[in-house]
Amino acid sequence: MIQRRTLLAATLAAPALSACATTDIRASLPELPRDTQSYAKPDEARVLHVSLDLQADFERKVLAGSCTLSIAARDDAREIVLDVKGLNIGLVSGNGRTLPFVIGESNGARGAPMTIQLNGAREITIIYETSPDAEALQWLTPAQTASGKPFLFSQGQSILTRTWAPTQDSPGIRQTYDVRLVAPADLIAVMSAEMLTPEGEIVEGGRAFRFRMRNPVPIYLMAIAVGDLVFGSVGPRTGVWTEPTVLERGLYECADMEAMVRTAEALYGPYRWGRYDVLILPPSFPYGGMENPRLTFLTPTFLAGDRSLVSLIAHELAHSWSGNLVTNAVWSDSWLNEGFTTYFEGRIIEALYGAERATMADVLGWAEIQEAIRTQPADLQRLHLLDPAADSPSAIVYEKGALFLRTIERIMGRTRFDAYLRSYFDRYAFQPMTTQKFLADFRDRAVRGDAALEQQLQLDAWAYEPGLPSNVEEPHAEAFDQVDHFVSDFVAGNPPAAAPWENWGTFERQRYLQTLPRTLTRQQLDTLESSFALNELGNNEVLFNWLELVVNNQYDPGVPSLTHFLTSQGRGKFVRPLYRVLMTKAEWGRPIARRIYAEARPMYHPIVAAAVDRIVGV
Ligand SMILES: [Zn+2]
Repeated sequence: MIQRRTLLAATLAAPALSACATTDIRASLPELPRDTQSYAKPDEARVLHVSLDLQADFERKVLAGSCTLSIAARDDAREIVLDVKGLNIGLVSGNGRTLPFVIGESNGARGAPMTIQLNGAREITIIYETSPDAEALQWLTPAQTASGKPFLFSQGQSILTRTWAPTQDSPGIRQTYDVRLVAPADLIAVMSAEMLTPEGEIVEGGRAFRFRMRNPVPIYLMAIAVGDLVFGSVGPRTGVWTEPTVLERGLYECADMEAMVRTAEALYGPYRWGRYDVLILPPSFPYGGMENPRLTFLTPTFLAGDRSLVSLIAHELAHSWSGNLVTNAVWSDSWLNEGFTTYFEGRIIEALYGAERATMADVLGWAEIQEAIRTQPADLQRLHLLDPAADSPSAIVYEKGALFLRTIERIMGRTRFDAYLRSYFDRYAFQPMTTQKFLADFRDRAVRGDAALEQQLQLDAWAYEPGLPSNVEEPHAEAFDQVDHFVSDFVAGNPPAAAPWENWGTFERQRYLQTLPRTLTRQQLDTLESSFALNELGNNEVLFNWLELVVNNQYDPGVPSLTHFLTSQGRGKFVRPLYRVLMTKAEWGRPIARRIYAEARPMYHPIVAAAVDRIVGV
């Protein structure tokens, strides 16, 4: 471990970064909507650049070192407010002097405000270390990785960066950054940034890696990973990072990545981040993917062996425009990131694999929306959420958001809508966005006072009301007609084996399992299982749909498969719903949930473990 005093001296001796102090912050920085998820007061003092110098200590499970912030502040600003959660703060200094600071009361998920007296400083250095249970960081033991070596990765979205770096953690406050990270000598560090020293440099205490992000980003997109990592090239600007034994499968699954980047550029303009690589993480990664710039973080559960789940990559790539380039300014507008991206994902899939495949995804999304409208309170059915901390269903934020944009496209025509979207990404590149601002811009540039068009579009109803407006059209995929026929056939008492399961792709199989009645007899489940070998499914999306039926119907022969699924990966989307239904099956399900969770919990990411703790009642 690095001594704090030494580190501080080293940091102060280093050449200062140019801090862009301005006389009037309002003249140079865009106004931001109030973000209730952050304590920052960006109208008074705002972070422009973050410079981290950290050591990854796998024994203590902490990152320790310093964070230097370059600040723009109003002339009369006396202090700057940062977001921190669970950080161990040492000394704070600026202009060569110690600066007084106070950490306010902690408020649940938001953490605490850290208020630093500037004393005229526009560059400040904070000596700190993270807590071993920092929610953004997962420290995996050698037993939890494919390589048998330790692994660390971070996950900042939505408000977790404050658990590993003291800065202003609001998606509207864009910051550039540079990082020096010292890792154990036998491991490789990668980041969502230019990798200036891919091999690292041997230093005292390990190997040092340097990174730089020159585009201003919302700081939830700053991400780091350390492990036994290797790289394989896919195309001139695309490639795969992962543990050695996963590389071959990863390269096979990601073969279309370069074509995806070209397709996306043809739709909405240049890719502005340089390289597009992916990092395939160990199975505890809590999400499908995280669109960290230049380096998407991915779950290994998309490795189906037949490239059938690569729409996940199309989705994360699309975020390079919607989300990373134009970003929701507050989390209550996250549909601007996710709905736009789901729409964009569909366009990439259509261009590369045909309209039918894209439409099948739309139909599955439609079913999710219907389910959400049936089961969720009205407040959670709006695109613009009234409560930014609400646990909004992805069916609304992703699928209803995308359906809104498909409705606009259908009404005004694809050519016109594409032209608008392309100019939207150009004009608002590297800027925050709100629902209100998007609608005003769309009216200004696309509707242009056409009263009939305005009436047809029902923009406000889509953005602000629950449910679905009257101009919605249900998508229809012809391939699903056959699937639905076989479902009816089975429900009528005929054997399932007549269905051409072997010839179906992922979407048809999902449609089949999702459309079956939720309550089935033991005999029906037996014949389904023996006809299609459902307990042995290798595709995790389809297996999840089968396990929903297993749990819902208390089907004992499916429990070994359920146990393996829940103990071998920790993706929240799969894990949470299965525990939730198990806990509703009192005598049957609860003991199973507790037994599996006792085994699985050490592997789950803190984000997922916290959610399952609440479900299982630990
Ligand atoms: Zn997304």
